[in-house]
Amino acid sequence: MATNNLYDLPPASLESTLRDVVSPSFRIRQIEEWMYVRGVDSFESMTNLPKELRASLASQFSLAFPEPIERTPPANDGSSKYLFKLEDGSRIESVYMPLHERTSERTSVCLSSQAGCAVGCTFCVTGFFGAGRNLTPSEMVGQFFTIRSEHRVAPDLMNVVFMGMGEPLLNFDNLVIALDILSRTVAPKRMTVSTSGIIPGIDAIAKLAHPPHLAVSINAPDQKRRQEIMPITSKYPLGELIAALKRLDREFTAEYVLLAGYNDSPQDAAALAKLLRGLKAKVNAIPFNADPNLPPWMKRPADGAIDRFVDTLVKNGVRVTVRRSKGREIAAACGQLRGKSEVPQRRVHRAARVEPARVERDPLHRERR
Ligand code: SAH
Ligand code: SF4
Repeated sequence: MATNNLYDLPPASLESTLRDVVSPSFRIRQIEEWMYVRGVDSFESMTNLPKELRASLASQFSLAFPEPIERTPPANDGSSKYLFKLEDGSRIESVYMPLHERTSERTSVCLSSQAGCAVGCTFCVTGFFGAGRNLTPSEMVGQFFTIRSEHRVAPDLMNVVFMGMGEPLLNFDNLVIALDILSRTVAPKRMTVSTSGIIPGIDAIAKLAHPPHLAVSINAPDQKRRQEIMPITSKYPLGELIAALKRLDREFTAEYVLLAGYNDSPQDAAALAKLLRGLKAKVNAIPFNADPNLPPWMKRPADGAIDRFVDTLVKNGVRVTVRRSKGREIAAACGQLRGKSEVPQRRVHRAARVEPARVERDPLHRERR
């Protein structure tokens, strides 16, 4: 990757890159502090460096972050979505979620890892718009540092979740550099990487020296339905994914998007509990977030159905949380802000897709585009 952005380098190679330009070596320690602890985006900000050194660094390197171009007004829980513009004009989004007092969830920032997603899950707006390029490490950490500085949160009180646009495990090398940089201020156990189930990536995450927490989007209790809504299942079948999670042998979060009348019955909950038996899983149930770009048959279940689903999991010995707060739900429905400001490119392609068998029985079927 040809880049002169210092945030694109693994922290371990910063010193060798700067050695010829910066001396004495304690100056490199100062630069590290400005970058990895404070997260500055210009050499000008490094006020304890001599002016000439700052100018010389700026003539050779960059510390640029993506440009924040839009922020939604805070939702009822204070959450806010950010739209960032990248150098090539691509747009990505992130979400700031302040401390949630009722559930005592910490302040979190939800980051994107790609400027789109080729995985193409049928319930996801990012998937609807299709593939986008991998984000560079500087574009990933830039979302975090920009949001953190705007909200002035103490760095050690934050969680980072890679649950925005894109499939982080399909951008593995850049993700690892970003995690390494972020781990200077956020403990690895406070960082979560959410995946649609890329098995080689899951195996590789387990081998990292300081692995982040893993969240895996399960979303259906059987191969047939999972394949209908998550086409990646034909490449990485559910049985093999479960085997990979067994190999992982660590606690992980099983995410489950609840779609009314599709995967939200007590029987589905019992089947999910059975699927996860023997794994160190806790379930995060995410009520589906509707969007005009998504198939109209997809609906969020009524609260009673969500409660019955959760109760059945609990009765079957599964730990479960439900994402009910508005802002945190918005965060799950990655790609929606971007969805509103862009003309859909894939409408024809999506309409031509074979819909799941169950949809045929749905009375709303006729409304489909
Ligand atoms: N690609 C990764 C991470 C980004 S998606 C993954 O799929 O895990 C983050 C989460 O948002 C996933 O659990 C996904 O299932 C969920 N999600 C996507 N679209 C959604 C929607 N419309 N409503 C609710 N959750 C959604
Ligand atoms: Fe990609 Fe995740 Fe959306 Fe699926 S849910 S299309 S993997 S971003």
